Amino acid sequence: MDLQLKGKRALVTGASSGLGLACARSLVAEGAIVTLVARSTARLERARAELGAGTHVVAADLASLADIERMVQEAEALMGGIDILVANAGGPPPGSFESTDVAAYPAALQLSLLSTVAMCKATVPAMRARGWGRVIAITSIAVREPIAQLILSNTARAGLTGFLKTLATEVAGDGVTVNSVQPGLHATDRLREVFGDTTRLAAGLPVGKLGDPEDFGRIVSFLCSQTAGFITGAAIPVDGGASRGLQ
Ligand code: NAD
Repeated sequence: MDLQLKGKRALVTGASSGLGLACARSLVAEGAIVTLVARSTARLERARAELGAGTHVVAADLASLADIERMVQEAEALMGGIDILVANAGGPPPGSFESTDVAAYPAALQLSLLSTVAMCKATVPAMRARGWGRVIAITSIAVREPIAQLILSNTARAGLTGFLKTLATEVAGDGVTVNSVQPGLHATDRLREVFGDTTRLAAGLPVGKLGDPEDFGRIVSFLCSQTAGFITGAAIPVDGGASRGLQ
């Protein structure tokens, strides 16, 4: 299927590893021009060396609103505009209600909610003016079933999902779609770092294996496609059947 993404200009954050890098890889394979964002220039350069021509990099910390503003300006200057935003970053630290001080919430909300709000503020108006745009946020299956010991992530991502649904409705008439993709357990380096041996995790999933980050990237590319123009305001689980609810 031709996703009709040739020449589209995509900004992908949290793109030096894992699911973000897989999204960037897939968009490049579809012919998009991609700017990758993460904090470490060295890791970004490694990714650029792999992805090659048509790829730009900008180092920025999504914990900083000033950095986000600069990063969007630089990406626009490098690509001549932004048609697609894939908003992603690492997750906030673990903890329960009891172990997490209220002072820990603002940083988590900045990283996992406000950074995406700021990126949408900086990119969506131009998408609306051009009559075409795609916003995809990578959240978590925790939006459907909050995960124990991840109270910061559970809180921020549920709020972000409400923001995205509201935005989707406001901009739908201007050719801009807004969706989130909710990863379950995917075989990223980060997951291996946190859990070590992932055999038992995989066995606990209905499909019996972890998700392939490259498949996840291709699902995000599909949501960016022309064909997916009728999908908006959706929060799509990609979790191997792990969430058991009806919605
Ligand atoms: P990862 O750690 O491999 O990748 C995160 C990326 O974000 C990296 O490129 C990192 O450099 C970048 N990043 C982190 N903090 C940043 C910051 N402050 N500013 C700019 N860039 C920053 O993680 P992943 O496994 O690819 O997960 C991506 C997202 O999906 C995370 O939010 C994670 O919590 C969520 N998620 C992942 C899984 C999974 O199974 N992998 C499951 C549920 C949710």
